[in-house]
Amino acid sequence: MKPFTYERARTPAEAAASAGRVQGARFIAGGTNLIDLMKIEVETPAHLIDVNGLGLDRIEATPDGGLRIGALARNTDLAADERIRRDYAILSRAILAGASGQIRNRATTAGNLLQRTRCPYYYDTNQPCNKRVPGSGCSAIGGVTRQLAVIGASDACIATHPSDMAVAMRVLDASVETVRADSTTRVIPIADFYRLPGNTPHIDNSLEPGELITAVTLPKPVGGRQVYRKVRDRASFAFALVSVAAVVQPDGSGRVALGGVAHRPWRIEAAEAEMPEGAKRVADRLLADARPTSENAFKLALAQRTLSSILAESEGTTR
Ligand code: SF4
Repeated sequence: MKPFTYERARTPAEAAASAGRVQGARFIAGGTNLIDLMKIEVETPAHLIDVNGLGLDRIEATPDGGLRIGALARNTDLAADERIRRDYAILSRAILAGASGQIRNRATTAGNLLQRTRCPYYYDTNQPCNKRVPGSGCSAIGGVTRQLAVIGASDACIATHPSDMAVAMRVLDASVETVRADSTTRVIPIADFYRLPGNTPHIDNSLEPGELITAVTLPKPVGGRQVYRKVRDRASFAFALVSVAAVVQPDGSGRVALGGVAHRPWRIEAAEAEMPEGAKRVADRLLADARPTSENAFKLALAQRTLSSILAESEGTTR
């Protein structure tokens, strides 16, 4: 691990200002991804800004009937919160599908959204990787691609985003609240938060340098049957091959987002109009522009069948 300096920030604005001022600074909270990356020198921050003392761990009702989740609310606390379990069950289920109990005890809401890809080449500093070293090339293209993206990828990167929580947040239309280095604040709809790789795969999201997430806000509850189903190679502590977050209303309408297929949670609202017609119609629309490799083409059928299973259970019938 390379040497770095360290400070404890006292306010969100102070943390953001410091991150904007010091080249190569990173925020640290739970550290469940960053410390791993520092150990293998994928991340080599010059300065760490500890944000654990900022008091951003509360989960509060909003005036419009939603919930405001502090950026530092731990994954375990968020998944167990009575209001989340009752009104946003899909979020609780997605969180519990991720990582281990020990990691969820440390990992924060913002950190979960900001975790980096699990593309194996990103973690191997002997291999070219455009996300790790811009312009160096992509070892995954032409390499082992079973876990990687089937849609929204580019000639520069075919990585997927690993967060389960983010898929549920996308289907719930969450918004990300931030403070920037100049102390101004803004709200970013989660639909606009994650970027596709394009020719800048080293930039995962729309945050500016130094910008700190302070909270994630959920709109008022949408009701319906809420399911998060994660398909993976082993039953625990594995990232999704495919995951499906679905909200199904009694009349068959609803919402769907996919995880494990793209550089961001994959939702196309227009596809949801097909929900009463069945999973194949929805999946065909959601994945119409898919460009899978021979190793990961199975994800298309897997996504459709997983959604089909959810819809069949929601109807109380078998399809
Ligand atoms: Fe790096 Fe992306 Fe290629 Fe993986 S897919 S090696 S993260 S550039």
